[in-house]
Parts: sequence; C-alpha cells; structure tokens
Amino acid sequence: MNPVEYLDTHCPWCAEMISLEIECIEPEQEYIEDCPVCCAPMLVSVRIPCAGPPWLQVEREGG
Ligand SMILES: [Zn+2]
Repeated sequence: MNPVEYLDTHCPWCAEMISLEIECIEPEQEYIEDCPVCCAPMLVSVRIPCAGPPWLQVEREGG
C-alpha cells in the first residue's frame, strides 16, 4: 500500500469534485479539513482496510 493515497470525493457544501490526500498511517482517522474550493470546514472520516481501497466519507462540519 502506498503511504499516501489520493481519493476523489465531492464537497458536502459546494458539491465540487475535490481530491483529498490520505495518509495511510492509521486505520481510522477523523479530521477537519477546509474545502479547497469554497473553504468550508469538512469533517473527513477515513478507514484504511487491510486489503482493498481506503474508504472515505465527508460531512458538513459546524452546520
Ligand atoms: Zn466546497
């Protein structure tokens, strides 16, 4: 597995396609990241399974 993966998703605020850089160092991660398009805060949840692609979910933060 690569230590860093790039996953495409959609911003929960502006619905623009965005690419998030995922560091595959922890199997479960949650962090706040600002949308690069509209700068709104997103709650990013990442799961790194032992096999298969990483799983990603983004939600509105503070909404
Ligand atoms: Zn956005």
